[in-house]
Amino acid sequence: MKQILIISGKGGAGKTVITASLAAVFKSKVIADCDVDAADLHLLLHPRIKERNQFSGLAKARIELQKCTGCGECIKVCRFDAIDSNFVVDPISCEGCQVCRLICPVDAISMENNVAGEYYISETEYGMMVHARLGIAEENSGRLVSLVRKKAREYGERLGVDYVVIDGPPGIGCPVIASLSGVDLAVVVIEPSLSGIQDAKRVIDVANHFGIKVVCIINKFDINLENTKSIEHWCRSNNIPLLGKIVFDPVVSESIVRRIPIVELGDNKVAQQLKAFITNLRQFLN
Ligand code: SF4
Ligand code: SF4
Repeated sequence: MKQILIISGKGGAGKTVITASLAAVFKSKVIADCDVDAADLHLLLHPRIKERNQFSGLAKARIELQKCTGCGECIKVCRFDAIDSNFVVDPISCEGCQVCRLICPVDAISMENNVAGEYYISETEYGMMVHARLGIAEENSGRLVSLVRKKAREYGERLGVDYVVIDGPPGIGCPVIASLSGVDLAVVVIEPSLSGIQDAKRVIDVANHFGIKVVCIINKFDINLENTKSIEHWCRSNNIPLLGKIVFDPVVSESIVRRIPIVELGDNKVAQQLKAFITNLRQFLN
């Protein structure tokens, strides 16, 4: 079973459109949506939730006011200013460090479990999908990404599928590192804008650092042909296979509005180019 991650560094480069097309074309796979902060793959794949599970974040401090003597020690030691003058803990600011609990002379502070989000096991028309939702203002998205990956891998192994197709998070932070760990191939989607190129290069550096094989695809290549040429040149000089180029076409917006993967939206140029890219991609997965 091969794990393929689609990332871009920059949000809005077309990563989810490409992931949805891979999910539609590959027959034997489990799909994982690791963009847990702003998931949108579900808009194109319409998962029907079969199993809903809680994701626990860091435990948060809670003060029992009946026991509290008002000495103020906890307020003094909290580096995150999470305790107000009425000795109430703000769960958003609390980082769960437990220093207040240790310092409290009357044992008035306990740590409480915190539900930071949910993850789901779903069915889609294109196969099983594992996805998640992180609560508002919750952190720990890296941990949730690792959990989604683990569940997708487990289901993939159980079902004996050929691929796990992973929609990665944007950026280069902890969730991206969690999504890169142990994948067989990272597909980097590059948009030929200056920020798109910079962000793609940064995420490729991260993938290289972890020894992950990288291939690229340029999305909306005709919005800036000069930048597209410079990406082609850069890929050649860095021995990074460039497996496809996709035109900018309003048909992509139509597919999003109609909530259908673009490769399923009749015969169109983008679908043809994506199918050609997927044929090239298969060679790197053997
Ligand atoms: S340290 Fe304990 S007793 Fe003192 S103010 Fe905080 S909760 Fe109350
Ligand atoms: S657990 Fe740490 S961050 Fe949370 S209120 Fe106590 S001292 Fe502040």
